[in-house]
Amino acid sequence: MDQNCIFCRIAAGTMPAKELYRDDEVVVFNDINPQAPFHALVIPVKHLATLNEAEAVDQAVLGKLMLVAKQVANAAGYPDYKVQMNCGKGAGQIVFHIHLHVLAGRMSHKEVG
Ligand code: AMP
Ligand code: ZN
Repeated sequence: MDQNCIFCRIAAGTMPAKELYRDDEVVVFNDINPQAPFHALVIPVKHLATLNEAEAVDQAVLGKLMLVAKQVANAAGYPDYKVQMNCGKGAGQIVFHIHLHVLAGRMSHKEVG
């Protein structure tokens, strides 16, 4: 838990978010600035700043992010959706706690960030 990280604070429940899913390892909440009718962020509870910090020990939770992304998109009525992760400032990452963007609904085929 990094006290200065907003997504750690959402994972800890000390910062409010519109949560769609939560378990011991993964939390999903609506993006505060949605780029599509459905725009959720899927995060691990464990603080990893970027994908570059992930190691073999993180393999299971990284895979779980994808399965939870599928679950929340399907549960919201979207069999078709995009999943995106930005890694590093140059790729548009602004929050340095790993997250998958899950986007669905009316949208162009544009990337986030
Ligand atoms: P990225 O550019 O991949 O780092 O994306 C960060 C995303 O986090 C952006 O889409 C923001 O709109 C979103 N975001 C930032 N702060 C919050 C927050 N407190 N609650 C929900 N989403 C947030
Ligand atoms: Zn964090």
